[in-house]
Amino acid sequence: MSDKPKSHGRLKIAPTLTPRALMDERPRLASAWEARVITLFPNAFPGVLGESLTGRALDEGLWRLETVELRQFGEGKHRNVDDTPAGGGAGMVLRADVLASAIDAASAGEPTDRARWPLVYLSPRGARFDQAMARRFAAGDGITLICGRFEGVDERVLEEYDIEEVSLGDFVLTGGEIAAQALLDATVRLLPGVLGNAASTEDESFSHGLLEHPQYTRPAEWRGRAIPPVLMSGHHGEIERWRRDQSERITRARRPDLWAAHLARLAKQDKA
Ligand code: SAH
Repeated sequence: MSDKPKSHGRLKIAPTLTPRALMDERPRLASAWEARVITLFPNAFPGVLGESLTGRALDEGLWRLETVELRQFGEGKHRNVDDTPAGGGAGMVLRADVLASAIDAASAGEPTDRARWPLVYLSPRGARFDQAMARRFAAGDGITLICGRFEGVDERVLEEYDIEEVSLGDFVLTGGEIAAQALLDATVRLLPGVLGNAASTEDESFSHGLLEHPQYTRPAEWRGRAIPPVLMSGHHGEIERWRRDQSERITRARRPDLWAAHLARLAKQDKA
C-alpha cells in the first residue's frame, strides 16, 4: 500500500465566497428588493439562487435574501414547531403560535401594505404561480415567504395574518423550499439590472401571452438539420413574422387555454 494520499478530487476548497456567504454582509442598496424566507431549513438557501444571474445579482446587492429559521421560535427544550392534527390522522402540522412568532420577527421593518410587501404561504391549495404574479411581486419592495413542511400549517394563522397562498402547480412537494426558490427565481430576474440584457424578458414565453418561438444557434447544420433559412436571411421584418407565426402555432397546439385568452384579448383590442 502506498503512503501517497489518494486523490479524492477537490477535497480542499479554498475559503472563497460560498453561496451562503452571499446572503450576509453583501453591499446593501437602500432600495434593494428583499426576500425573507421562513423555513425549517435555512441551509437550503440561497441554493440554486446563488448561481448564475440571480447569484451575481445577490452578490452585487441588487436584491437581498434573508432566512428566518422557524426552529428558533419552537416551544420548550426541544424547540417543537409541530404537533399532531386535531381530529386525528397522519403526519404533523406546524403550530399557529410558533409560526406567528416567526412571522412577527420576519416582519420587522417591512412596509405593512401587502401590495408593496406580500406575505405568501407556498401551498398546493394556493393560486397557481404565473408570470403575471412574478411581475406583481417584482413591482413591490419585497416579499415574505412561508415554507411549509409535513401536513402544512394550522389554518388559523393563515386567517389571522391574511396570508396569500401560492402554488407552484398541481403536485405535492415535501416542503415549500423548492417552490420558494422557483418563485424567487422567476421574480428576481424581472428586477432591473438582474438580466444583462433587459430586452430578453420582453420577448420570452408568457410576456405577450404566447409561448416562445424555437431558438437556434451555431452550427448552421447539425446532424443533417439546418437552421430555418429565414433566420439566416438577415431580413428583420421576415424574421419577426416567422417568429410570431411560430409562437402562435406552438401556443395553439400546446396550450389551448393560453390561445383562447390570446384570441379574447385580440377581439377586445379590435372593439376598442
Ligand atoms: N397536506 C398538504 C400538503 C403538504 S406538503 C396538502 O395536501 O395540501 C408540505 C409543504 O410543502 C406544504 O406546506 C407547502 O409549503 C409545500 N408544498 C407542497 N406542494 C406544493 C406546491 N405544489 N406548491 C407550493 N408549495 C407546496
